[in-house]
Amino acid sequence: MKLFDSHCHLDDRAFDQDIKDVIHRAREAGVAAAMIVGIDEKSSRKAVQIAQSHKGFYAAVGFHPHDAKECSEALLNYLRDLAEDAKVKAWGEIGLDYNRMFSPKATQRKWFERQLEIAIEQDLPVILHERDSRGELMEIFSSSGFPGKNAVVHCFSGTLQELKAYIDADLYIGVTGIVTLAERGKDLRRLLPGVPEERLVVETDAPYLTPHPEKKTTRRNEPAFVKSVLLRLARVRKEDPERLAALLWENTCRLFRIDKRQGA
Ligand SMILES: [Zn+2]
Ligand SMILES: [Zn+2]
Repeated sequence: MKLFDSHCHLDDRAFDQDIKDVIHRAREAGVAAAMIVGIDEKSSRKAVQIAQSHKGFYAAVGFHPHDAKECSEALLNYLRDLAEDAKVKAWGEIGLDYNRMFSPKATQRKWFERQLEIAIEQDLPVILHERDSRGELMEIFSSSGFPGKNAVVHCFSGTLQELKAYIDADLYIGVTGIVTLAERGKDLRRLLPGVPEERLVVETDAPYLTPHPEKKTTRRNEPAFVKSVLLRLARVRKEDPERLAALLWENTCRLFRIDKRQGA
């Protein structure tokens, strides 16, 4: 089984001590590729550095909505330069998070719109983060003129109405370990059978959102555990795991415009 962890934060301090072991375990579990996603300028730089030294690992650069209040044109110029690196395959994560409210709404909106413009200029796929924006994320995304289908709503945990809007806009849907959680995953498991198979990708969002059963023994999530997400998703959709894994590999490579023969 060949897996692509479409969203992780291997640059996080949580991995500073043992990143080699973490990457080794990922490969052992069949994770042939992973997207390391930046949240600000430092984390984006570190994501690119890690991607540069590991085959099959790629990077995305961007300012997370939580960190929007730290963003500036100068820092975006810096990210633009970073994005010239061949290992950078997406802009993100960007979007709106009205749940935790670490940055004011107007600031989040401003830098989300600005980063969409840059992604369009640079012709890069985008990784979207959305929480409790009540349709505002899609309003901004739709009016940005973002061309094509190379965008993913990562860590989807929204409503049926939101899901429909994403699918209508041809977005990819990122599924995390939430799908494995007894209570928190209930709504998600109800919705997932309705997602067209060519729009699905899996992710860990490591070090966060550790899936079941790993959650029982460790707090920190890591790319190797994306297999638990895939297996549960296959069960929920009543699909053969091997077939689903192969399909999601192709989806993720298509999303990030990575040669599907690569990454192994
Ligand atoms: Zn996110
Ligand atoms: Zn993330």
